[in-house]
Amino acid sequence: MRTAIVTGASSGIGEASARALAGDGWRVICVARRVERVERLAGELGNGAAGLRLDVTDQDSVDQFVAQVDRCDLLVNNAGGAKGTTAIADSDPAEWEWMFQTNVLGTVRVTKALLPKLLAAAAGLVINVVSIAGHYPYPGGAGYNAAKFGERALTSVLRQELAGTPVRVTELDPGLVVTEFSLVRFGWDQAAADAVYEGVEPLSAADAAEAVRWIAAQPPHVNIDSLTIAARDQIGPRKVPQTRR
Ligand code: NAP
Repeated sequence: MRTAIVTGASSGIGEASARALAGDGWRVICVARRVERVERLAGELGNGAAGLRLDVTDQDSVDQFVAQVDRCDLLVNNAGGAKGTTAIADSDPAEWEWMFQTNVLGTVRVTKALLPKLLAAAAGLVINVVSIAGHYPYPGGAGYNAAKFGERALTSVLRQELAGTPVRVTELDPGLVVTEFSLVRFGWDQAAADAVYEGVEPLSAADAAEAVRWIAAQPPHVNIDSLTIAARDQIGPRKVPQTRR
């Protein structure tokens, strides 16, 4: 059965993508560090779904995970996130390290390990969940911006390097989406996380997941190179509250 692997499926866009793909008939392998969450999700999805532990920052974890996978037609590199909003003058190298390890190196590790299986598939597809933060830098965002610019670059290179093979590559760039993203960014400070979405109606994880489902539903000769999905109330980096009819 055509099989999708979704990283970071324990929460947010990844969890919603796993649900949307399962609804479209995919067998979904849901992976994350919080294995109890992905096991529970896989139990709900049925259709041969599995929940497995994966830490994308740890090569041994990636190797152990890939050894358990029999096929991969679709890889959704979604695991990632941000830490902190400090200016470069006050920046914490540990936060930068975390963001590069998860968003950039994690994507490379998992893609590299699954590439033989993607190439063996009839119509392989890699969807990298990047961000509009990879297009629009902003004060306090340097570490996350740099990581997502990097993830965009590697996505473009992968697309070019796989040209001539059946494997397609897509960059998906969501804007504001309500998930655990801001909680993680602000060390689980709920008030700080809520303030990010104040005055605007952000996307839901299901909205972003619908983009993943649609990209994966295209016929094999169609490559969605990039797709940006934003809330009505966000233009580029700007939040635009509703003020007129
Ligand atoms: P989220 O709810 O915090 O989900 C992040 C997921 O990444 C979790 O499932 C987490 O699982 C996983 N993850 C983090 N570190 C990991 C690691 N080392 N190994 C494996 N999995 C790891 O945030 P989200 O908004 O859904 O984020 C998903 C992706 O969308 C990220 O790449 C994010 O940068 C991107 N994005 C988010 C937004 C937004 O506004 N929310 C906008 C644009 C792009 P565990 O902690 O269980 O491992």
